Amino acid sequence: MTTLTPCQQDDDNGELWFSTDELDIIEAKGMCFNHCPARQACLDLALTAEGGKGTDSRFGIFGGLTPRQRRQLAKHGPAPEAPCGTPLAYARHRRRQEPPCHACCTAEAARAQERKARRKQRANAC
Ligand code: SF4
Ligand SMILES: [Zn+2]
Repeated sequence: MTTLTPCQQDDDNGELWFSTDELDIIEAKGMCFNHCPARQACLDLALTAEGGKGTDSRFGIFGGLTPRQRRQLAKHGPAPEAPCGTPLAYARHRRRQEPPCHACCTAEAARAQERKARRKQRANAC
């Protein structure tokens, strides 16, 4: 049985992963880091496919990284880790199978609440 990745399961055909809205980008990155079993393979594939392209020639979130972050990674290697108290740091705790710290739990709860409110807002707009 093949497991679908979060972007493959998305109701909007992965639209979230190509949004330019800042909160959508955070949400897509969180899905990649928190829930995708293929994140590293996805990132490796994107970096290979994009080769030495500039940021403006890269599109969407792949492997949890934005076009700019992938360009940075390709050019300079891994960036410093996100500090605790951010959803990305929360995702890192999860990835490492360690208990998230209080600051990261608070940040993740706020992100989840924001996400819920935005979904409700979108549903009401339809
Ligand atoms: S890591 Fe890649 S395959 Fe996984 S959800 Fe993100 S974009 Fe999709
Ligand atoms: Zn933390």
